[in-house]
Amino acid sequence: MSVARRLLLRASRSAWLASQLRNRAFFRRAVRRFMPGEELPAALAAAADLAAAGIGSVLTQLGEQVATRQEAARVRDHYLDVLAHVRERRLPSELSVKLTHLGLDVDRAACHTDLQTLARAAADAGSFLWIDMEESRYVDPTLEIFRTVRAVQPRVGVCLQAYLRRTPADLDALLALEPAIRLVKGAYNEPAAVAYPLKRDVDATYLALADRLLDRAARAQARPVFGTHDLGLVKRIRERATALHVAPGGYEVHMLYGIRSAEQRALARDGVRVRVLISYGTHWFPWYMRRLAERPANVWFVVRNLV
Ligand SMILES: Cc1cc2nc3c(=O)[nH]c(=O)nc-3n(C[C@H](O)[C@H](O)[C@H](O)COP(=O)(O)OP(=O)(O)OC[C@H]3O[C@@H](n4cnc5c(N)ncnc54)[C@H](O)[C@@H]3O)c2cc1C
Repeated sequence: MSVARRLLLRASRSAWLASQLRNRAFFRRAVRRFMPGEELPAALAAAADLAAAGIGSVLTQLGEQVATRQEAARVRDHYLDVLAHVRERRLPSELSVKLTHLGLDVDRAACHTDLQTLARAAADAGSFLWIDMEESRYVDPTLEIFRTVRAVQPRVGVCLQAYLRRTPADLDALLALEPAIRLVKGAYNEPAAVAYPLKRDVDATYLALADRLLDRAARAQARPVFGTHDLGLVKRIRERATALHVAPGGYEVHMLYGIRSAEQRALARDGVRVRVLISYGTHWFPWYMRRLAERPANVWFVVRNLV
């Protein structure tokens, strides 16, 4: 992992830096590149625009590691409201939630119950509920909650991170559930004992995991989603899907709002099922710093906004 990436990921956890930068106009302008706005209506409008271009969306309210049960309950209620809007406007939108935003650190049982409530509401709205994957210390509780909710509700999926050394074993253990899996490279600052520090190892693991998921998708035994902007990787995944005779729509590519927008549209025109993850909300600081860490050259974009 590069020094710049490590520093930016460390900075993402600095409350002092957040307080210094959050309200600066140049920083807020830079953030707008990655989110259509802080409020839900802006996210819904972006989802409607994407839908017109044949691209689905995944909506997520920014926030993580809430400290009280009341905050977590407000997050659950907010997502229930989002699902009502999605249903009313007939948007091809799914949801993605972080379990620490639903109070995993505060009350695990209540977090589990709230996730179940959201999964049921998502199914009733014709939508789908994704569970983000956070730092490695949350992987066990996240997978445990996913398993129990998945046992009663098929319209729920979970994210797995290719950079974690444990992920091939986690995927193996999940495959019997015929799961929906969003495979990503991984966005957090993890020690080398836990996550591959070299990009080439992460990429190789990603491809191997993608292969296993596509093999299951060819038998309609998994819903693989490839959450990546790595176009070389997407090309190889598409070739592999063709070779394995995965049905059209048997896998999807998800990207983040504001990244590779032209390529998102080109893929959709080419018949690939594409969704864009749209983030919104006021708690964007740690999330935005992770976007800078993914591509430290993005820092120049912030500097350009400053000058
Ligand atoms: C839909 C979706 C959901 C995700 N959910 C999670 C999650 O739950 N947990 C988690 O840990 N991570 C999540 N991530 C983030 C992921 O782990 C990676 O950090 C992120 O996607 C960057 O990796 P990459 O696959 O795009 O490949 P990279 O090799 O990092 O990037 C490939 C190319 O894409 C472009 N690119 C990548 N990132 C950026 C950026 N920020 N700004 C501009 N260009 C960029 C660059 O041109 C880069 O060369 C998610 C990503 C996506 C797309």
